[in-house]
Amino acid sequence: MQQNVSLKPYNTFGIDVDAEYFTALHNISQLPALSAAGITRHVLGGGSNILLTGPVKGIVIHNQLKGITVEKEDIDYMWLRAQSGELWHDVVMYAIEAGLGGIENLALIPGTVGAAPIQNIGAYGVEVKDTIETVDAWLWDEQKVQTFTNTECCFGYRDSVFKHSLKDKTLITAVVFKLSKHPVYNTSYGAISDELASLGVTEPTVKAIAHAVMNIRRSKLPDPKVIGNAGSFFKNPTIPTTQYETLLVHHPDMPHYAVSPGQVKVPAGWLIERCGWKGYKKGFIGVHARQALVLVNYGNARGVDIWQLSGEIVASVHERFGIELEREVGVW
Ligand code: FAD
Ligand code: NAP
Repeated sequence: MQQNVSLKPYNTFGIDVDAEYFTALHNISQLPALSAAGITRHVLGGGSNILLTGPVKGIVIHNQLKGITVEKEDIDYMWLRAQSGELWHDVVMYAIEAGLGGIENLALIPGTVGAAPIQNIGAYGVEVKDTIETVDAWLWDEQKVQTFTNTECCFGYRDSVFKHSLKDKTLITAVVFKLSKHPVYNTSYGAISDELASLGVTEPTVKAIAHAVMNIRRSKLPDPKVIGNAGSFFKNPTIPTTQYETLLVHHPDMPHYAVSPGQVKVPAGWLIERCGWKGYKKGFIGVHARQALVLVNYGNARGVDIWQLSGEIVASVHERFGIELEREVGVW
């Protein structure tokens, strides 16, 4: 246990604030001692989906639970158990090397396995929920590990039970993924098929799709090692089709994607760009010049200033389009 530890190396925004106490978790046998009542606990994975707005009171538990094993297999599937401190991208690479399909479109998403179910990570037409069999989580109050089935996780768009009734009540220790030995490829995102074509790939494989996704991501997204960021700051809003049709009168080029009967998803990046924020820079804070969904730290930004900027963006999108953006990044 260390005291007054700077979290700057532990969050991809690169915000420099201290944790009152800091410890690394290498084994679940450490958990009972960390379960004492009255302590505020913060579970830290890769720090790629949090904004630190001030010194963190209590104890920050840096998840280092490691290991990937084959749980079982049959002729169609292999079930992989990954400990929650494994890097998500390493699990994707493990699956690809084994020729297993289901998570190749999720290559290069930063962060840990344990955080993946929390916001049901998604990209390029795939969500992790479609491969999750079970999630093991330590319950702080009950002091035991409980296994949650996929249904019990209540997954939604960037959402799960761990953001609601189980918020701050668990530490996810391991996830079991059911991956296919006969992958069905999802190249419906135009950018993937374009990239496969430019790579000269005519017969997709899980490896080729992952490489296409990695190329696209590297070309479009700022690398947190160079410019501090936490990926998309906002979720893409879903609005009633009737509202979308009304907006079309004044914004005929507004993009949209059907979500369910009567509901459409509108890209938040487009709304923010239309409000003039793309490329905005003030002091150390800004909105990325190539991707308006990404708020950035150009140096020594304070988390509160990034939070305030996000509020100004929410207000201007609401004023112009009547759409309320929801933040995806969590705040500590
Ligand atoms: P952290 O930021 O460390 O934690 C996030 C939250 O989860 C915190 O509240 C934390 O307390 C909690 N938590 C973490 N681990 C555990 C655990 N084991 N048990 C209980 N609670 C836990 N997301 C997408 O969905 N799709 C993308 O394509 C995508 N692209 C990104 C690109 C970039 C460049 C960046 C910086 C981020 C991107 N993200 C994306 C967001 C982020 O990578 C994911 O949300 C990721 O799952 C966060 O993992 P983490 O380990 O860094 O979580
Ligand atoms: P993009 O391809 O420019 O598209 C903009 C938005 O439109 C996306 O966010 C996506 O919504 C939606 N979209 C595009 N094509 C679609 C289709 N065929 N069907 C349904 N929806 C479609 O997006 P981008 O910013 O470069 O990101 C590419 C992918 O990586 C997206 O899936 C995005 O979510 C993911 N990503 C996520 C983060 C994060 O931090 N959460 C960061 C970077 C990238 P969806 O977001 O719902 O897919």
